[in-house]
Amino acid sequence: MIDPVELTQALIRRPSVTPTDAGAMDLVEQTLRGLGFNCRRMTFGQIENLYARYGTAGPNLCFAGHTDVVPIGDAAAWSREAFAADIVEGVLIGRGSVDMKSAIAAFAAACAEAIPAGEVTGSISFLITGDEEGIATDGTIKVVQALQSEGEVIDHCIVGEPTSSERFGDMVKIGRRGSINVEITVEGIQGHVAYPHRAANPIPVLVALLAKLQDTELDQGYLGFQPSNLELTTFDVGNPTTNLIPAEARPG
Ligand SMILES: [Zn+2]
Repeated sequence: MIDPVELTQALIRRPSVTPTDAGAMDLVEQTLRGLGFNCRRMTFGQIENLYARYGTAGPNLCFAGHTDVVPIGDAAAWSREAFAADIVEGVLIGRGSVDMKSAIAAFAAACAEAIPAGEVTGSISFLITGDEEGIATDGTIKVVQALQSEGEVIDHCIVGEPTSSERFGDMVKIGRRGSINVEITVEGIQGHVAYPHRAANPIPVLVALLAKLQDTELDQGYLGFQPSNLELTTFDVGNPTTNLIPAEARPG
């Protein structure tokens, strides 16, 4: 038997902020080996990936997920240390507790019950990457390409990303939107604010451009999917002073 809460805590205590692994993949591998999975580490670049399969028959049901987490941001803003995995009034607190070390632990715990019970007649596999939160070039894509080239067949896939809306288990999603990142640089001419006619301030240009982009309807969404959205994540002029018109401005 595997206690999914304890396994989640053990995974959170390995601070695997992309691309660092911190032993998280080893723990997943050890756990699955203990259940009889055939484990293959697939390392691409500096990224740890794992493909583990129990059984050889079809159909092959694959749990897909990732061990990496996003950075913790401001450590002082956390009510508990981000990688301590403390349980406070029944709530597990820690980076990766939702997205998505708990899902990996739950997958493994479910296997630990289903396999001895003889419920696995086909195969169960795990495709776990350490590169989902980063640029993800050395993660799932490369593993899938390698498996396809070998003729490995994955019939069905369950992704353990958090999807609940209000309450645990109240929403199952059938797909995931793609995303694109765009960087824009508006070049101006640096100058003193008292002599604006001798400068070209890039900030108003960029503000107007962003306002237009923000007001543009990208699409209307479709069945089961919300409309596409544009999110501005930074606005940078690198200007420490108030009396200087900066030379360039860039959102991201
Ligand atoms: Zn995730």
